[in-house]
Amino acid sequence: MAATVLDGNKIAAEIRSEVAAEVGALTAAGIRPGLAVVLVGHNPASEIYVRGKVKSCEELGIYSEKLTPPENASTEELLAVVGELNRRDDIDGILVQLPLPGQIDAKRVLMAVNPGKDVDGFHPVNVGFLSTQRTGLVPCTPAGVMEILRRSGIVVSGQEAVVVGRSDIVGKPVAMLLLNANATVTICHSKTRDLAGVCRRADILVAAIGRAGMITRDFVKRGATVIDVGMNKVAERSEFDRLFAGNAKREEIFRTKGSVLAGDVHPEVAEVAGAMTPVPGGVGPLTIAMLMANTVRAAKLRLGDRVAEPSRV
Ligand code: NAP
Repeated sequence: MAATVLDGNKIAAEIRSEVAAEVGALTAAGIRPGLAVVLVGHNPASEIYVRGKVKSCEELGIYSEKLTPPENASTEELLAVVGELNRRDDIDGILVQLPLPGQIDAKRVLMAVNPGKDVDGFHPVNVGFLSTQRTGLVPCTPAGVMEILRRSGIVVSGQEAVVVGRSDIVGKPVAMLLLNANATVTICHSKTRDLAGVCRRADILVAAIGRAGMITRDFVKRGATVIDVGMNKVAERSEFDRLFAGNAKREEIFRTKGSVLAGDVHPEVAEVAGAMTPVPGGVGPLTIAMLMANTVRAAKLRLGDRVAEPSRV
């Protein structure tokens, strides 16, 4: 039997409508949550991502501001931009779009963001809060993975979870969230021995690798839940055929666009998994939804019991 499809678009829509309601209530109380996105230079992919984030803010009623320092901006200039956003009372969330141009010390810039406004959840203070189970801001994609599991009624507590990938932005925080939710967690990476064997132990398998279709059916225990975080561009015919041979819809996209988007999980896994996120339409839509949720959360955490003060619209 084919795996149940965990529909990220549907779950993201639910979260967005909840966030919109919260924004409405906060705005009515005089506090309109605000997000600042800092986009340095003209990286085409970053421009698309930032456009999506700003549009999403508009749709949900969140105030947004895009700051666009030039491609040749220095670390000091960017630190000044972040410093000013840290001081502003109408800005609750600050997102510095990565990657930054080579001359900028990205670590210094990210460290300069006030942890209370760090809606990406990458600041070491928020990383520490997550690992010690304190209230803080959690990275968006990992938080989205947990929302998919929770809203799909998938039990995490007591389950064996295996995360493939140990990046600071996906693998490690997903693993920490699963651990905090009482899963027994194994983190795998490029040096893991018998990766397929370790993955086969998983009741919940999270793939955050960046390699199209690497997780094939022999990595998956029958009935497991498989969460595919990967977003990979497949432009080679042989690779396309390995993953999507016979899939007319994908074939059409490949022919017209010259490439298709593929996850880290091979589509054949649907024959053994119990439930599985598709790519596209799985984890991806949750990332922006959780950014919106984090902005509202940051506004509430930052204002604490001042929430009732009618001072901010
Ligand atoms: P990353 O920083 O490149 O990390 C990849 C991880 O995978 C590393 O820990 C690496 O191990 C591991 N890995 C690579 N090859 C492996 C192999 N053959 N066997 C076992 N492990 C292997 O990537 P990332 O930023 O975490 O992103 C992972 C994927 O998620 C990418 O496809 C990215 O595009 C996607 N992504 C999606 C979203 C979304 O919104 N859906 C958001 C962020 C990222 P080592 O540490 O040993 O090198």
